[in-house]
Amino acid sequence: MRIVLVGAPGSGKGTQGDKLVAHYGIPKISTGDLLRAAVAAGTPLGKKAKAAMDAGQLVADDIVVGMVQERLAQPDTGNGFILDGFPRSLAQAETLDRMLAGLKQPLDKVVHLDVDNEEIVKRMLARGRADDNEATIRNRLEVYAAQTRPLLDYYGKQKKLATVKGVGGLEDIFRRIVTAL
Ligand code: AMP
Repeated sequence: MRIVLVGAPGSGKGTQGDKLVAHYGIPKISTGDLLRAAVAAGTPLGKKAKAAMDAGQLVADDIVVGMVQERLAQPDTGNGFILDGFPRSLAQAETLDRMLAGLKQPLDKVVHLDVDNEEIVKRMLARGRADDNEATIRNRLEVYAAQTRPLLDYYGKQKKLATVKGVGGLEDIFRRIVTAL
């Protein structure tokens, strides 16, 4: 099962992704987690990514795509994977499609976790991650609307999109996702 989770920052992709890991026994690949680990470790890649992350802007495609490509080459992705936070733009989506076509492992489904903006801002302020201050949150929501939302059309046209309401109890949301898959 090869799945992409799409949703605004704070929509619950990380949490639901972890539940899908346990349910399907396939790994989750979170570009945000990989980037935060690189920043924490002080690698050259992390140093390059940090400014964009702190500002709530997208990190350069070559960095993110390279990371994903390396991760997908690891053997634990053989039975599938859950992508969380990638792709985030049409260019990334097209690159991913090409990458997966090369591996003969096309995506099965794209799950859109649908949560309205007011709820998102509330959740993100409560979460208190380093890049969760108000200005950065605003930027990340703008970046989502401008760059990532177009993916819904892109995957809709491929007939791979499932939109799931991302509000309510965690278990209810999870059941909706599994049903959609
Ligand atoms: P996330 O944990 O998915 O909210 O990601 C945190 C931050 O990492 C984002 O605000 C971006 O700066 C960066 N990031 C994560 N995934 C990507 C991606 N696919 N493309 C570009 N930047 C990304």
